[in-house]
Amino acid sequence: MEKLYCIGCGSVIQSEDTSKPGYVPSSKLNEENEDIVCRRCFRLKNYNEVTPLKMSSDEYANIISEIGNKEALIVMVIDIFDIEGSLITQIPKLTNHNDFIIIANKIDLLPKSLNEPKILHHLKKIISDNELKPMDILLMSAMKNKNIDFVIDKIVNYAEKKDIYIVGATNVGKSTFINTLLKSYASSQKDIITTSFYAGTTLNLIKIPFGENFIIDTPGLINDNQITHYLSQKALKVVTPKKEIKPKVYQLDSGQTLFFGGLARIDFISGEKTSFVCFASEFINIHRTKLEKADELYEKQVKILLTPPFEEDEDFPLKGHIFNLKKQSKQDIVLPGLGFVTVSGFIKLKVYTRSNTTPYIREALI
Ligand code: GDP
Repeated sequence: MEKLYCIGCGSVIQSEDTSKPGYVPSSKLNEENEDIVCRRCFRLKNYNEVTPLKMSSDEYANIISEIGNKEALIVMVIDIFDIEGSLITQIPKLTNHNDFIIIANKIDLLPKSLNEPKILHHLKKIISDNELKPMDILLMSAMKNKNIDFVIDKIVNYAEKKDIYIVGATNVGKSTFINTLLKSYASSQKDIITTSFYAGTTLNLIKIPFGENFIIDTPGLINDNQITHYLSQKALKVVTPKKEIKPKVYQLDSGQTLFFGGLARIDFISGEKTSFVCFASEFINIHRTKLEKADELYEKQVKILLTPPFEEDEDFPLKGHIFNLKKQSKQDIVLPGLGFVTVSGFIKLKVYTRSNTTPYIREALI
């Protein structure tokens, strides 16, 4: 069949995958097929709303590297709750070292008492440990509208006359952020997409007028080590926290185990009794048991008592990593995509996560 193109974004029309560019339900394709608009452009045009698009690393590199040929400001949105999982470390290289800033989203999830300079201090360290050198690091909550005006002022300032490219891993809140921007600052623009078609390029990205500049939404990168990659929609809903996290505290003796549903497990192998302060979605079942019973419990209860995962989730084995903590100060055991557990003292742990994510230790965020 002859290829059809969306008149909004220029993507090839397809009816197979709703999360890929150019999607139109097959029932909407008729014989004439003139002036066809993909579902994403339709929503943007009619409701001023962007929907997330997703892409694997290979496709992503192709798309993003085209930005390297342009004068651009790159805005990388990351998830404060999954910092390392959502940093796209290859961005500077892919974009030919265009100017870039990092915005950490979802700060509403952290305790209100936490001061922003302290989080920024931690973020700076993690970001520089990953060899990234952004011009600035900002904090916001796109969903709760926190710091949005400040963030927009900064973006406009750094952008000068350049186009603004919003990049991010999937699930960081990139679409929520762009929709917030559209609601507040671009809603008076009519016919956003007919003026936005990137004619003659293979960069089928939507370009949205934004004051004197344009904002360009890019697909979300699916990081192989992100949990979004291997959880069902149902499980993802459960593990993605929606409001301020109230930590759950467990006093553990060595020889005890904590399960985070069936997605992660911490064995306390040796050390003095200590507290495990767990920051995770309130809907993940945290379950304490004896270490000697943990294997059997997992075998029998995964997807039953230990949820998520649920029936519809693929099975992934848990893989353990030994950590010998040798500091009196507080440290976080990071369970990528799920949250973190703050501990202190000289303790030996075995931390299990699903085999495509790797747990690690950092200085306590809180
Ligand atoms: P995208 O894949 O990066 O475009 O992410 P979405 O905008 O679709 O958001 C992913 C999930 O994070 C959704 O469940 C959103 O409701 C949630 N989310 C987005 N922004 C925020 C925020 O500022 N705070 C919180 N708590 N959740 C958010």
